[in-house]
Amino acid sequence: MNPLGIHALVWVGGFSREECEYAVQSTRQAGFDILEIPALDPEAIDIAHTRAVLADHGVKGVCSLGLDPDCDISSPDAEVVRRGEERLAAALSVVSGIGGDFLGGVVYSALGKYNAPVTPEGRRNMVTALRRLAARAADAGITIGLEVVNRYESNVLNTVPQALELIEEIDAPNVMVHVDVYHSNIEEVPATAVRQAAAAGRLGYVHIGESHRGYLGTGTVDFGAFFGALREVGYTGPVTFESFSRAVVSPQLSNRLGVWRDLWADGADLARHAHAFITSHLTRS
Ligand code: MN
Repeated sequence: MNPLGIHALVWVGGFSREECEYAVQSTRQAGFDILEIPALDPEAIDIAHTRAVLADHGVKGVCSLGLDPDCDISSPDAEVVRRGEERLAAALSVVSGIGGDFLGGVVYSALGKYNAPVTPEGRRNMVTALRRLAARAADAGITIGLEVVNRYESNVLNTVPQALELIEEIDAPNVMVHVDVYHSNIEEVPATAVRQAAAAGRLGYVHIGESHRGYLGTGTVDFGAFFGALREVGYTGPVTFESFSRAVVSPQLSNRLGVWRDLWADGADLARHAHAFITSHLTRS
């Protein structure tokens, strides 16, 4: 079966040493193989400590992020782009420092609602920056995942075909599509999105989230069809559960994702339920 991951925000709102220890331990206890650590502020992560804690518990660490408006590589402003490249390079250092091999998320633009489409100049800046990021990542054996998100969280990639077009432009073997069924459920048909990414040989990472980002199976996502497509295309990569509640708050991320209510209070119960739910779907024949 695929390696199963869980997003750190199920456990903790930040990533202090104590939070890191709690998140890694809880990830292992709930039966997951991978902890996805948000690297919105890469400098704040204690790399050596995180690496040691992960190794102690036999958990693998990967990172994801969304860029801020003041370090958006899809900006027409060269200074803003430069800051974005710095942020991405720092996140890459975290991934390699903790022994990981994947950096995903909205690495190509700011995470948030735009009020206009990306400009041609901004798009050119983004492609150039992503080519440099991919080359640096390749040197460290890291795969870059371009997470396709809904229209309220980026104006660049809202569908898998858009991601595949961008990947063709970047033209690097280690840049893959990062599919998130929560976003896909808003913008496209999730099972079709999986088939499109897989047919291009670019399905690299998968996020599992319910339509309201709470308990799996209590919203409108057709998980039967989605997991059916993952099994049909023979996807063997990571499948990572993502859920957000005001019960565990990272103001940085929760506010930008529009997490305004408590969808759950007990992260451990939520995680156990998600592990069983995902396993049952992935092992169905
Ligand atoms: Mn996601």
